[in-house]
Amino acid sequence: MPEIRTDWDAIVVGGGPAGSTAARYIAEGGADVLVIDGRDPIGSPLQCGELVPSNDEMRRLCPDVPDVDDLLQTPEEAISKRTGEMRLVPPSGKPLRYDFDGLVLNRVAHDEALVDLAKSKGAEYLVDSRVERVEDETVYLRDGSEYTARVIVGAAGHNDPVRKTQWQEESLNIPVKFVLMSGEFTDAVELHFGSVAPGGYAWMFPKDGGANIGLGIQRSLAKGKSLNNYAEDFISRYGGQVTYSGAGSLPMSGSIRSLVKGNHLLVGDAAGMVLPSNGAGITIAMIGGRIAGQVVAEHLRDGTPLSEYERRWNTQMGKVMRNSKRAFRLGSLLFRAPDWLLNIAFNRLTKRFIWRAVTCRPLLGLG
Ligand SMILES: Cc1cc2nc3c(=O)[nH]c(=O)nc-3n(C[C@H](O)[C@H](O)[C@H](O)COP(=O)(O)OP(=O)(O)OC[C@H]3O[C@@H](n4cnc5c(N)ncnc54)[C@H](O)[C@@H]3O)c2cc1C
Repeated sequence: MPEIRTDWDAIVVGGGPAGSTAARYIAEGGADVLVIDGRDPIGSPLQCGELVPSNDEMRRLCPDVPDVDDLLQTPEEAISKRTGEMRLVPPSGKPLRYDFDGLVLNRVAHDEALVDLAKSKGAEYLVDSRVERVEDETVYLRDGSEYTARVIVGAAGHNDPVRKTQWQEESLNIPVKFVLMSGEFTDAVELHFGSVAPGGYAWMFPKDGGANIGLGIQRSLAKGKSLNNYAEDFISRYGGQVTYSGAGSLPMSGSIRSLVKGNHLLVGDAAGMVLPSNGAGITIAMIGGRIAGQVVAEHLRDGTPLSEYERRWNTQMGKVMRNSKRAFRLGSLLFRAPDWLLNIAFNRLTKRFIWRAVTCRPLLGLG
């Protein structure tokens, strides 16, 4: 492999959806950019429920985000199944049913396609290389090597080294466990609420020939029962063969207040860019990645202040993120209630309000 040079316009730490999207737009804007990722290949092993809204659904969910089709170009080989329905299931098991246009991904193929897209624009990648810390213009790797850049983007998820060194803000991270199961499942995606997953939710997302099944909980509400036990109880409701098990952590506090410090930016999970009312992180990380990438390129080209990234993020996602945080806080209160009360709360009259909360819209409103 040719020696990778050490001096760059921009370095992105982490090449997941946020980092690869940022790199794609930095390169497209004419700057040279290196992505450094601890994994090889990027995207493996799988840590995801793999559900994303379709592009049409994204336009409804995030109406202030422009050019969704340019941003989200999911290739066919990364789509395992399309769904047209979401079921929100209270403890009684009697679901509320909603039209929902979604894609259940092959997430590994999805992330690989994002890397390929960024490379096609000119981004370079250094994989199997863990970043230890970042100071000013220097990125220090665990193997002792050092790289420098005028701008450094932290896109390494909830343990991001840029965030760890410079940001004090705490976020609520909820632990998540999931499996891939082979077998026959309905075509609808399911979210389950109540004592099955205290403070979070459990999911069943059907895939081609199987399903992705898992849950996340708030430990403070778990009454001493372990995440493993919750996961085993929920997964055993389904009759297929487990072919893969994984775990991870989802940031649930919404995006952090300040996304830029000096020449450092945070994006994706590193910046809390997950909608807490529904757990959507992939597409939201990519929205943040595009804005960050475009602003970094403009900054390097003509001196646009990096704080423009925060301003554009708030214009495109501020309202949706605020509504989602509010709905999550309300949900956290509601989901402390006993199952019988939740069963009553999920009814024909509340159906519309529950959907508005999950899809990040103000509870009272038209449409
Ligand atoms: C179990 C689980 C299920 C989920 N289900 C869904 C879902 O169904 N739908 C959805 O939209 N979202 C889901 N999410 C959330 C979604 O996966 C994240 O929001 C999304 O991956 C964020 O993208 P990112 O690029 O910010 O971070 P990541 O995808 O986590 O990418 C970060 C990258 O940084 C690299 N990295 C980390 N630390 C370092 C380091 N020190 N040095 C170098 N590289 C480093 C990693 O190797 C990784 O490639 C789920 C999350 C989990 C954990």
